[in-house]
Amino acid sequence: MPDLSKGKEIYDLCGKIFPICRSLTGVGVRETLTVLDEYISNGTDYHLNIHEVPTGTKVFDWTVPKEWAIRDGYIEDESEHRIVDFNYNNLHVMGYSTPVDKWIEYGELMEHIYTQPDQPDLIPYVTSYYSERYGFCMSENTRKEIMPGKYHVYIDSDLFEGSLTYGDLVIKGQSEKEILLTTYICHPSMANDICSGMVLLAGLIKYVAGMKNRRYTYRFVFEPETIGAIAYISNNIDALQKNVIAAINLSCVGDNNAYSIIETIEGNTLSDRILNLVLKDKQPKKYSFLKRGSDERQYASPGVDVPMVCFCRSKFGEFPEYHTSADNMDFVSPEGFQGSYDVMTEVINGLEGNETYISEIKCEAQLGKRGLYPTTSQKGSYDTVQVYCDLQAYANGKRDLIEIADKIEVPMHRVLEAAETLRDNNIISIVK
Ligand code: ZN
Repeated sequence: MPDLSKGKEIYDLCGKIFPICRSLTGVGVRETLTVLDEYISNGTDYHLNIHEVPTGTKVFDWTVPKEWAIRDGYIEDESEHRIVDFNYNNLHVMGYSTPVDKWIEYGELMEHIYTQPDQPDLIPYVTSYYSERYGFCMSENTRKEIMPGKYHVYIDSDLFEGSLTYGDLVIKGQSEKEILLTTYICHPSMANDICSGMVLLAGLIKYVAGMKNRRYTYRFVFEPETIGAIAYISNNIDALQKNVIAAINLSCVGDNNAYSIIETIEGNTLSDRILNLVLKDKQPKKYSFLKRGSDERQYASPGVDVPMVCFCRSKFGEFPEYHTSADNMDFVSPEGFQGSYDVMTEVINGLEGNETYISEIKCEAQLGKRGLYPTTSQKGSYDTVQVYCDLQAYANGKRDLIEIADKIEVPMHRVLEAAETLRDNNIISIVK
């Protein structure tokens, strides 16, 4: 049985934040970050830093929108039967709906209803951030049951001058050079497309906080998608440009159906190389930058130039549960989270240990006199010897370990172990 303890821990955290009604802004986002911070700070010395960017703030070409508060919402018929109720499922009120409290006719009601006709039993997730209106989301099956008549539409919401919230945390290493890990925080109850990235990132913060030696500095960012990323970049562009050497955005990392990468435009940055290497034996689905859709859009843009890839299990937009009520806690699993956690920790360890080595010995090193050659012969006993030999043979002072692991087709963690052994035995050395 594989060890699923971390996957289970992260899955349980996902269950805690899943019910919270989040949006681009508002108390749901703050409450979520508070729950994540409790988890992160339990057993580490670190807390998330929470930042508020006021409504109206200019961030590059965008303006931070009004804050949205949602308390209640329903459609009621004349016999006080509720067709949909926000308190039953927070997807029923369209995100950023303006307040309303009136009786309307069937025809007008239909103009404010959103369904997903090709998935008639699911509630779609719909928002209207930049155009003020109200709306209700429901299954097509529910909509079909609505008969002509009068209906009470009620949404208790506010759009007001408030702020947009994001959280970040920097954990220092020996070098100022940074590994940037980001995710987005702005959807309501969606398990894979929102909660999974947040809880995996929180799990990775704990992992990095617990590392004995950190070569690199780690920057973790929890931001509302698009406008939040733009605000974050606007406030931190100098540090990002100066220090970030690799960057990964986490999206939809809780299901167990696939492994996916959205590459950078170049496709060969350090971020591309390490994630592709770690995913190599998992038959990953590779998407070009043309298939981008999350915050890699902002970080990788010209003038920002952060080499960000996006890591997904099933890529957003590619699974039928995406942006519907079926993206729930049944769709994510401890196995899915464990797989993502294992990938990301191998990515972190791979980046930490990635060096360029050169062989110190001409021709093959004699492993036997160093105790590195098995004294008995058994099936499999030469596997490690083969890695030693291949590593020495490929260590020409130009190839780094990511390239060598890729070429000799051995997982990065085994190449790192072999490199340490060969280095300790003065067979290879790091090129400075
Ligand atoms: Zn989404």
